Amino acid sequence: MGLTEYKKKRSFDKTPEPGPKKKRTRTGRMFVIQKHRATQLHYDFRLEVDGVLKSWAVPKGPSLDPSVKRLAMQVEDHPVDYAKFEGVIPEGEYGGGTVMVWDYGTYKPEEDEDAAKSLEKGDFKFELEGEKLKGSWVLVRTRNRQWLLIKHRDYYTTQEDVTELAPVSILTRRSLAEIAEDEGGNVKKAATGDPKVIPRRTGVKRRKKGSKAKVWHSNRPS
Ligand code: MN
Repeated sequence: MGLTEYKKKRSFDKTPEPGPKKKRTRTGRMFVIQKHRATQLHYDFRLEVDGVLKSWAVPKGPSLDPSVKRLAMQVEDHPVDYAKFEGVIPEGEYGGGTVMVWDYGTYKPEEDEDAAKSLEKGDFKFELEGEKLKGSWVLVRTRNRQWLLIKHRDYYTTQEDVTELAPVSILTRRSLAEIAEDEGGNVKKAATGDPKVIPRRTGVKRRKKGSKAKVWHSNRPS
């Protein structure tokens, strides 16, 4: 796909989003999830493949429950630099609203699959090594741009809602409303994407086999 569609959709003199430049991170296997309060709240799931971020908009966000299949609509490839973008896209521009870096880390294709080939086939199994999301996942294409994001059963499986448990930015610990406030966005609109109460527990920590999930605490004053 490349970054042609990404470039066509945006006016870079109006949006603070990064320009359409291809590049590779050190591992070449970055993943990021951005929580985006645009017309609708959604979570943008992105995997680095061959110099770009393959991207899906997940309306309900990821679920750690293997019985839950989350709709993931494939959208245009994004530049690798997009992974660090947290801020406000002006109203009236494409994707206008507030963007938060919700989780960040690396992924690994399972059984040394080739990521590009597996995505081409529409069935990609991978492991996430993020702060909030870990373990085994699959993306399966159902038709055209429509995919499902599903958790495989492993140590990180839980019925708890990770989007509720860990609602703030992995980079800055800010809520959507706080990002909008800092970056001159619409605070009221952004706040509709935040839970009413921001829990002190903001993430699920790595755990050993058989142990219970531990959580880490935000450094937000409460
Ligand atoms: Mn989006």
